[in-house]
Amino acid sequence: MFDYYDEMGMSRAELLEKIQTMVKPARFEHMLGVEKAAVELAKRYMGNIYSASLAGLLHDYAKEVSDTDFIKLIETYQLDPDLKNWGNAVWHGKVGFLKVKEDLGLDNAEILRAIQVHTVGAREMALLDKIIYVADYIEDGRDFLGVDEARELAKVSLDKAVAYETRETVKYLAARNLPIYPDTIATYNAYIKVLNND
Ligand code: GDP
Ligand code: FE
Ligand code: FE
Repeated sequence: MFDYYDEMGMSRAELLEKIQTMVKPARFEHMLGVEKAAVELAKRYMGNIYSASLAGLLHDYAKEVSDTDFIKLIETYQLDPDLKNWGNAVWHGKVGFLKVKEDLGLDNAEILRAIQVHTVGAREMALLDKIIYVADYIEDGRDFLGVDEARELAKVSLDKAVAYETRETVKYLAARNLPIYPDTIATYNAYIKVLNND
């Protein structure tokens, strides 16, 4: 992997140490798993390996930030006020990218954007957005019904993997009477068609 991150002026060892002050060990392992899966996808789909690595490693950086701190960030940055009606599941990406920017001084728009949309996706997703969205779902540590199907799809079509994952997420949330964030629906509508094409 990369030994030094110029944009943050930090060695990999320093970065890993910083991440570990933010998240529990199991989540840290997951983040390393997503980094590995993202690098594999970047190689397969000709993405930027450096960006895939760093975005994968950092995607859940803000997952253990407190609700109070997320509310403060929404106010400070004057984000969409509707965000306040949601919770950690949505905030750790849609707001969490700002924590990465603030804490680590990372100023790479593509990477920050991939972190921002990693949970809910978006109507239009860049290659890196799709790589992180899918890598999060299929990393080696994931074990749930359907994960192997997602892994197989990710080998043949990144868009199909995005569509499959979004469909499963919508099904999962609806089955539990959970609210579905509008971006999740937008992602579903933008990508679901590709599952019908060969
Ligand atoms: P993780 O951070 O590695 O656990 O994975 P994600 O960032 O993809 O998802 C975090 C949580 O958000 C999961 O429990 C998802 O089921 C949940 N989630 C994903 N999309 C939505 C949504 O549209 N609405 C709500 N309420 N939860 C969602
Ligand atoms: Fe996440
Ligand atoms: Fe994750």
